[in-house]
Amino acid sequence: MADCLFCKIIHKEIPSEIIYQDEDLTIFKDINPAAPVHLLIVPNQHLASVREMESGDELLLGKMFSGAKMAAEMSGIDQTGYRLIVNNGPDAHQEVLHIHMHLLGGGKMKHPMG
Ligand code: AMP
Ligand code: ZN
Repeated sequence: MADCLFCKIIHKEIPSEIIYQDEDLTIFKDINPAAPVHLLIVPNQHLASVREMESGDELLLGKMFSGAKMAAEMSGIDQTGYRLIVNNGPDAHQEVLHIHMHLLGGGKMKHPMG
């Protein structure tokens, strides 16, 4: 999608620290990290949010979890734990309207969330 920040990152039209890319997913470092490890797991196909999800998108969105698992292993936080967050819509402060999963870890987090 022409005007989408994450589509531009996926297509390398703007720079970012991509740590992994395949035909389905791109994983890169969040520019404003909220934890020692903060990665974004992003499907290459443009989908704004869960609200726009259609039947047939389950496989692709499921791959985001596989990508998160792999990225946690690559970052050395698979044993210590991590949090996966998908913000959807204004109340959740979704800033980029291209669905993405935050992978946060590398330090003890506060609990509960919110
Ligand atoms: P969300 O609020 O869930 O939409 O999260 C969007 C995330 O994208 C935020 O954590 C931002 O820090 C991050 N972000 C914005 N621009 C960039 C960029 N150019 N490269 C990497 N991450 C970005
Ligand atoms: Zn996009």
